[in-house]
Amino acid sequence: MSDFIVSIGLEVHVQLKTKTKMFCSCAADSQAPPNTNICPVCTGQPGVLPVKNEEAVLLGIRAGLALNCKIEKFSVFERKNYFYPDLPKAYQISQCELPLASGGYIDVGEKRIRLTRAHLEEDAGKLLHFIGSEPVDGSLVDLNRCGTPLLEIVSEPDIDSPQLAFDYLKTLRRIMRYAGVSDCDMEEGSLRCDCNISIRRSEDEPLGVKAEIKNMNSFKELKDASTYEIERQKKLVDGGGQVVQETRLWNSSKGKTFSMRSKEEAADYRYFPDPDLKPVYVSAGMLKKEKEALPSLPLEMKKKFMSRGLSEYQADILTDEKVLADYFDEVIAGVTPDGQEEAANIVISYLLAEFDQSALSLEELKKIVPPAHICELVKLRKEGKINKQVLKTIFPKMVKDGASPRDLAGDVDIVSDESAIIKLAEEAVKANASSWEDYKSGKEKASGRIVAHVMKESRGAADPATVMKILKRMAGK
Ligand SMILES: [Zn+2]
Repeated sequence: MSDFIVSIGLEVHVQLKTKTKMFCSCAADSQAPPNTNICPVCTGQPGVLPVKNEEAVLLGIRAGLALNCKIEKFSVFERKNYFYPDLPKAYQISQCELPLASGGYIDVGEKRIRLTRAHLEEDAGKLLHFIGSEPVDGSLVDLNRCGTPLLEIVSEPDIDSPQLAFDYLKTLRRIMRYAGVSDCDMEEGSLRCDCNISIRRSEDEPLGVKAEIKNMNSFKELKDASTYEIERQKKLVDGGGQVVQETRLWNSSKGKTFSMRSKEEAADYRYFPDPDLKPVYVSAGMLKKEKEALPSLPLEMKKKFMSRGLSEYQADILTDEKVLADYFDEVIAGVTPDGQEEAANIVISYLLAEFDQSALSLEELKKIVPPAHICELVKLRKEGKINKQVLKTIFPKMVKDGASPRDLAGDVDIVSDESAIIKLAEEAVKANASSWEDYKSGKEKASGRIVAHVMKESRGAADPATVMKILKRMAGK
């Protein structure tokens, strides 16, 4: 197959974390029983007037700032006209000509993906299908989601592979969660993504005709669907065919995209400014408030951790969630520079391992094992008061009842002074005479039995490296 350049652009919908909907006072809670959070405004009854939700505008500004966008002083709500059973007004209030935010970028590893815009809009309802089932045979509509505030973030077609699309969406999600503007839960629908894909033979050619893929419900589906679609287009073009502009649906059980309809152009929606809504005005005060509300973002935290001697791998893990990054930030504030890598090891290998196995959230776990306890562990390790074995024994106890590591370490017979280990080593040598002879005569592996004996007698409290050092000395090596 010939070589092609792949261009992918993503349109991502993020549900803004407001208490109420975009243009009415109904709760923005789509998980409530069907049609319980609705009113004349969000169900599009005649004679009602929408009132914009200030909180949604502020969150949109904060999201735009987090994405390095230019926040426009004036933006305009427009009506996007189309009929669908879950859209009772037969138009969606969105922004077209003048969006809230424009430009911007997201850095994904070494790549910078440019953004076209980010605009506010309201969500539609949800259709529930019960075809051929009892007691309902047909489809029902739930309008709880109708009017929920969304921010649509549109990227330039700068993404050149399914993996980069996957990484871009992960990075975007991470930034939005840090900024506190959305939960970005793909399963619950607070993060949704459509993907535009085109191919061309060389950089000199204009972008190819794009197909839009909808209906991807997970990060993996985005990767699978775009991989499939790129191959489909390549085969088509190689065989002399042409890609047509259309919307395609991803069918995960078949592993294929299917044509749904020819793709609409903006003109098809007959956008026009909503006469019921004044333009959105962003004052200097609003901008200032949201700049201040913006916390350190993932990339900044990652760079900070790496500057403290952590590997990129460790820094990536520790900045995955804001609560974890904040936690580790508190930890490093309490340990000396030479203890920071050890602190990272303890959090990743012990705390996160416990977290994986427990039903607790990170917030809850943080209350049981406060950052100060991790700092204490690092200190105990540095002082040689505990070794890895002891750490392994006491960590689950720290998680179980929130006990302080210093108290727990006091319960363990810590064998830190060499004379105690020498005594145990001498006993172990006596008890394993033949292994000792073997070891002395050059069979290095024979030391295993003796070390194991010391570890057993010390109930795991001796440091194996120290034991080895002593055995070598005893054997005159
Ligand atoms: Zn309502």
